[in-house]
Amino acid sequence: MFCPSCGYPNRYDARYCRSCSARLPDELRAAQHSPGIAAVLSFFWCGLGQIYNGQIGKGLAMIAAYAVSWWMMWLVIGFITTPILWVWGIYDAYRTAERRNRRLAGVT
Ligand SMILES: [Zn+2]
Repeated sequence: MFCPSCGYPNRYDARYCRSCSARLPDELRAAQHSPGIAAVLSFFWCGLGQIYNGQIGKGLAMIAAYAVSWWMMWLVIGFITTPILWVWGIYDAYRTAERRNRRLAGVT
C-alpha cells in the first residue's frame, strides 16, 4: 500500500512504511485494494478484477463482451478479440487498483 506521508509503495499487509517508518493507518489498509488480486481475478475471468475494484458497471460490461467474444470464436474473429480483451482486462484491473490506492493515500 502507498504511504500517505512519503508515497512509498509498501507491501499490502505492511504496518509501517519501509521508507519513512510512519505508521500506516488501518482504515487506509482496509480501503486499498491489492492490484495483484485484481489482476489474478481478471486472469480467471475478464471483468472480475474491475468488479473487485468497485467498477461494477464496467466489470459487467466486460464480462458480457468477453462472453460474446468467446461465442465469436465460432466466427473465427473471436480468436483475435478474446486474447486482446483478456490481456487488456488484466492490465486495466492492475492499473486501476494502483491508481485508486494512490488517490486514497493522497499520493500523486
Ligand atoms: Zn512513508
